[in-house]
Amino acid sequence: MKILIMGTGYLGTTTAVAFAELGWMVSGFDPDTDKIEALRQGRLPFYEPGLEELLRKHLQSESITFYSDPRTAVQDHDVLFLCVGTPPKADGSADLQFIQAASEQIGSCMNEPKLVVVKSTVPPGTQAKIARWIANAQRAPIRFDVVSNPEFLREGTALQDSLHPDRIIIGSDDEEAADRVRRLYERMDCPIVLTTPTTAELIKYAANSFLATKISFMNELARLCDALDVSAADVARGIGLDPRIGASFLRAGIGYGGSCFPKDVNALMFTAEQYGVPLSLLRQVEQINRSQPAYFLNRMKSRLGNMRGRRIAVLGIAFKPGTDDLREAPALAIIDALLERGASVRVHDPVARLPVGLEARGAVQRESPEGALGGADAALLCTEWPVYASADWLRIKGLMREAIVFDGRNALDARRLKALGFDYHGVGVR
Ligand code: NAD
Repeated sequence: MKILIMGTGYLGTTTAVAFAELGWMVSGFDPDTDKIEALRQGRLPFYEPGLEELLRKHLQSESITFYSDPRTAVQDHDVLFLCVGTPPKADGSADLQFIQAASEQIGSCMNEPKLVVVKSTVPPGTQAKIARWIANAQRAPIRFDVVSNPEFLREGTALQDSLHPDRIIIGSDDEEAADRVRRLYERMDCPIVLTTPTTAELIKYAANSFLATKISFMNELARLCDALDVSAADVARGIGLDPRIGASFLRAGIGYGGSCFPKDVNALMFTAEQYGVPLSLLRQVEQINRSQPAYFLNRMKSRLGNMRGRRIAVLGIAFKPGTDDLREAPALAIIDALLERGASVRVHDPVARLPVGLEARGAVQRESPEGALGGADAALLCTEWPVYASADWLRIKGLMREAIVFDGRNALDARRLKALGFDYHGVGVR
């Protein structure tokens, strides 16, 4: 089977490299010719640890190639993976325009039977729409199958997650098509769930929504911990040891961001409302998350008073460590609010670049943490990059105007910082 990955962003490029690593011949197609050119030269258009090295290895062995022409790309392959974006629309629903365009490309270009596998995150019921879009774009009827195969990789550990997944979900009404997808993953050692397309699509949204629920649960509880002067980390540990609860996703902070949780929670709520089954719990999850940066900013305001003229060093802007992805990163909303209140903002992030819009409003990116922290009235940690936890805080104290730290990810050693004389503030940290 020759595999074509349609859409070579974070998901598509990782998937392509993972399949090559599993021994398959893989190609990538993307209408963004700059992206394709960079990938052909072995350069990733985004940051993902370990991925570029493996991309180069497979380019060299010619097990990965890249196409910029959709017709030859579709015609030269028999398995086509849809990995295009499904960004949020203003009303919270998933924008399926890229899915539709890619499906129509497949329909109009195909010259022999194809197996189409949907890896993009799409609302329940989309597999049937994709089949219709392909069929309507065909010049003459040619057989094809559409199988749902959602992906659970996490940016920052994408390669590891793709090569060693917890589970593989395959949604198909056709046993033979499902079996062909299963064979692609034969070398993987994890449970495979064979189910219907709509179930597979819902599993992906349910997984992200559940994880988002854990985060918002802990963040709201951390507000109570602040009021009670109780450690949210101790509460998290105390409940997380119960295997029915589990320890992960219970660290309080400034809330979740990224290209998946915010959009997927909203898209699931939108779909549910269309079916007359509003998901009121998720409405709260989303609301808590949206207000969490403001909650932390209020804590800052109580300590610092008027922000005008105050210099704040923002450490980390990516939505999480290990990525340069800024989609829905809480740091951006926080920087925006700080600038709005007249603060002077110096930013550091090991890989992510400050958006031009915030730069134009006066925020400045520095190339080292010390560059951002020098002369600062307070440090504000927004992304838990390990470099901040391991920094020499004694030296940093000497660089700052005031030794105040706001740890928006509860990632620093609070006890040590306090011992060094810092006025330390976390989320639900005593
Ligand atoms: P992305 O924006 O990084 O990449 C999407 C790519 O699709 C872009 O390069 C774009 O040029 C390309 N594209 C647009 N139209 C196309 C077409 N007609 N044919 C081929 N390519 C086309 O997005 P992403 O983060 O890779 O996410 C893609 C999908 O994967 C989304 O549905 C997302 O929810 C899902 N997903 C993402 C992750 C993640 O961590 N990023 C994890 C799991 C699932």
